[in-house]
Amino acid sequence: MPRDVLVLGAGMAGLTAALSLLRRGHRVTLLEYQDRIGGRLLSLPLGDGMFSEAGGGHFRSNMPYVLGYVRHFGLPLLALNDGLPRYMVDGMTASAADLGNWPWPLDRAERNVTIAASLNRYLQRVGLDTDTVLDARWPEGDAIEGLSNVTLGDMIRRVGASDAFCKLLDAHGGGFTSGSPALAIIPDLAYHFGDQNLFRIQGGNERLPLAMADAIGRDRIFLGSPVAAIDQSGGRVHVTTRSGRLFSGDVVISTIPFSVMGDIQVTPGWSAAKARLFAEMEWDQTVKVVVKTRTPSWLAKNARGWPMAGGDRSWERAIDITGNEPGGHGSLFFYLNGANADAVLARPGPNRGQPVVDQFRTDMPDLIDEVLAVQDFAWGEQPWIKGSFGGPPMGGGWMLREWSKPEGRIHFAGDFTTLKTGWVEGAIESGLRAARQIDAAAPAEGRPRIRQEW
Ligand SMILES: Cc1cc2nc3c(=O)[nH]c(=O)nc-3n(C[C@H](O)[C@H](O)[C@H](O)COP(=O)(O)OP(=O)(O)OC[C@H]3O[C@@H](n4cnc5c(N)ncnc54)[C@H](O)[C@@H]3O)c2cc1C
Repeated sequence: MPRDVLVLGAGMAGLTAALSLLRRGHRVTLLEYQDRIGGRLLSLPLGDGMFSEAGGGHFRSNMPYVLGYVRHFGLPLLALNDGLPRYMVDGMTASAADLGNWPWPLDRAERNVTIAASLNRYLQRVGLDTDTVLDARWPEGDAIEGLSNVTLGDMIRRVGASDAFCKLLDAHGGGFTSGSPALAIIPDLAYHFGDQNLFRIQGGNERLPLAMADAIGRDRIFLGSPVAAIDQSGGRVHVTTRSGRLFSGDVVISTIPFSVMGDIQVTPGWSAAKARLFAEMEWDQTVKVVVKTRTPSWLAKNARGWPMAGGDRSWERAIDITGNEPGGHGSLFFYLNGANADAVLARPGPNRGQPVVDQFRTDMPDLIDEVLAVQDFAWGEQPWIKGSFGGPPMGGGWMLREWSKPEGRIHFAGDFTTLKTGWVEGAIESGLRAARQIDAAAPAEGRPRIRQEW
């Protein structure tokens, strides 16, 4: 029996859920805060036909949903390089291309092998691996609490990792890595260290949500419609936008980030468990400083990819997404979190990202030939999310059960309702989960098929 479904948010999770339910004959309406589609897939034109990404920047081959959706919509791909970085930690520099000459006090077994290989070895020692942790059912039972009460660094130190290795891991994966709860960070590392095949969409990753919006029908999507109130006290659910427009449905899928849930009036009020979930989820405040260079000059210096450089410096990580994009210029961004992001935000004026680039060029003077343009994008400044990605804090294992449980006729989706937070794969997974709570046969797009013309 077809149902009237209101989907709140036209990012990847909302679009996935809407498309899936439409395929089953349900009537779907999407309400989107912004005047644009795509949420945290937000492409930035660099000129000369090149694009950078303020949000989701790349995908990997161990992401079957992303591959399926990209294939289904026939979007052209660019190939990117996996990271072959130069590190700068504790005032010392070394290249991942020159493993024998690392100056840090690494353990004997950590020498002469990549960081990925050592990390996988430590994960094996605690009974984990970079495949299993990407299963939507991982982890189960008692493992959830255990993994949410220990940081990744403490977990791998117990099975032999040195402090120097944990510092290198932070330089490669971002300053937050070893201090994060193991539960929240291990799937993230499984993407970074479990697959070396990277890609993005030519013309901008935003093309994927735009293609999905076309398939859904633009007339079903109301842009510039921030939801202000949800009332499920009667027979139907009523949703009111900030301008006072009223929509009604049998059921709602909310992909509104929990970081902005407090801006919405709900009747009856949220249960105590949902209110706690929204209040206690932790949201990063990532800033990206996006740079266009004359050429990808770092390639000649044996540094490249995701990341091209990493360290305990104010530039944290330099990420090269140039790959085989046509245009001839270099496309790079600095990916800043915590104190490094705060330092950019504290500066006045339009060029607040420039000191990050300057410091990088002082620390590694040979990697960038000429800077053609610099811009910054601060996720905490976006009123529709006020952050970049949300995840469970230490001791937050209980959140896993809570975020997948509907509240009355409101179902929840968004990458932050999975352990693949910060990844489009998680957004799609969550959209399908919410759609299947409403209709168990709701399908995904793009099952693998061999092209006949081969
Ligand atoms: C800095 C950064 C780097 C990233 N890098 C990668 C990467 O390399 N690879 C990768 O796969 N993923 C990456 N991601 C994650 C990826 O972008 C997300 O997983 C995905 O886009 C999330 O989709 P979503 O639908 O769950 O949430 P969102 O895209 O955030 O969608 C939520 C939507 O809800 C809307 N909304 C909010 N409030 C309201 C309201 N009151 N009423 C109506 N609508 C509302 C918002 O406007 C938004 O459109 C990155 C993200 C960031 C921020």
